[in-house]
Amino acid sequence: MDDLWERALQDLKGKLSTENFDTWLSPLTVDRADDATLTLRVPNKFYADWLHTHYLDLVLDALRAQGAPDSFRVDFSVSEATRPRVNARSEPPGAPRTRSTVPPPMPPPAPVPSAQPAGPYATPGSGLNPRYTFDNFVVGPSNQLAHAAAVAAASSRQKRYNPLFIYGGVGLGKTHLVNAVGHRGLGDNPNLRVLFVSAERFTNEFIWALQNHRINEFRERYRNGCDVLLMDDIQFLAGREQTQEEFFHTFNSLYHADRQIVVTSDVYPQQIPEMEERLISRFQWGLVADIQAPELDTRIAILKAKAQQDQITLADDVALFLAQVVKSNVRELEGTLLRLAVKAELATRPIDLEFAKEALRGVLPKSENATTVEDIQRAVCDYYSIRLADLKSHRRHRAVSFPRMVAMYLCRQRLGTSFPELGDRFGGKDHTTVMSAVRKIDGLIRSEDPAVVNAVEAIERKLNL
Ligand code: ADP
Ligand code: MG
Repeated sequence: MDDLWERALQDLKGKLSTENFDTWLSPLTVDRADDATLTLRVPNKFYADWLHTHYLDLVLDALRAQGAPDSFRVDFSVSEATRPRVNARSEPPGAPRTRSTVPPPMPPPAPVPSAQPAGPYATPGSGLNPRYTFDNFVVGPSNQLAHAAAVAAASSRQKRYNPLFIYGGVGLGKTHLVNAVGHRGLGDNPNLRVLFVSAERFTNEFIWALQNHRINEFRERYRNGCDVLLMDDIQFLAGREQTQEEFFHTFNSLYHADRQIVVTSDVYPQQIPEMEERLISRFQWGLVADIQAPELDTRIAILKAKAQQDQITLADDVALFLAQVVKSNVRELEGTLLRLAVKAELATRPIDLEFAKEALRGVLPKSENATTVEDIQRAVCDYYSIRLADLKSHRRHRAVSFPRMVAMYLCRQRLGTSFPELGDRFGGKDHTTVMSAVRKIDGLIRSEDPAVVNAVEAIERKLNL
């Protein structure tokens, strides 16, 4: 029966954004199971309520698709003792470095202060990703300022900038840095109440709390229940007036209580479309630090660090070659290295320069600047056999809307075109539509959805010819 759940989980992974999957489904464990009912253990009642409202149907569908009978039931059992999924403690100086894939032993969960009753919002753990620490963040000229400011934000001794606003393009390490702030803070003080949340999740929770008359608990959690608030991808709040209003008050409460706030965004504060002026001005009260695409030497250093972490043998000439080929995005750089390692393992060949060139022939860019929005739109239309007019239309049929999202993603990724401009170039769409399309495809790629990964690779090959 555990196996049924595992299979259903795989199925669900392909259907949800990585964000939602990691937040709501991957923490679940099987409590009990028989032929008629599966009982999943959840960390608290809030989780159970949320799952019930938002994911139960999807979960049941997935279980039935894996052979569960139509009458099958899913229950949730609340266990406050479920240990946090993520917790952090800094390693003592000189301790041997653990491989990132083997998490260090979990320290006991931080005690909940008695003044803070464990309401449904007191999800255990900080929401941090254990892989993203300062230890494995490579510093170079492109991210030096953001790194130094993040280190300071995590420290109780140094001068801190509050808020710290980190902005930079996709895949350049913003989420990594902001998680590292949380880990460092917890390492120095395990009782520190660190809360990492994406703006998307903040929005979802806020809406849910409103609908379910739980707004007081929501406010308690965000305004009084945390010492460090790490809010990722604040550009998600673009155009969401009510959530912005809520965040504005959250910000004020925390700021006036001298709590550290770190915010990330993929654009400079003023360039976030439809963001309230008073929030933009608050973002600038502290320090605004950017992350640029890394220079060649930093790219090489990142590749080497990654290879060491994942125990991949990487010769200098291959590292140089990869760093020359993939320039603008660290996530892509890592992905290229991992794909290469997998290909070499399958072919039982060492990763030498010849093999790397052969394996990457298809993805070598002709010239990064030569590609235009039209090139990408045409290549996507070719791949999916649809008309350009449909790609730019407002038709919502999936046969058209999905390729449209892929095209928007590729334009943003390869050309860095702004969201509003992309909206124009795709037949007058709202920038928030473009943003959510890009996020959706990015999530599918990160969760390694095969259909999307194959499509994107094939289209990129076409573009690079
Ligand atoms: P962003 O949030 O800016 O889109 P992420 O923080 O998700 O980017 O980074 C994408 C990937 O690249 C992550 O796996 C991250 O660990 C890695 N990465 C980015 N910058 C660095 C760096 N300077 N050193 C090591 N890894 C990095
Ligand atoms: Mg990010």
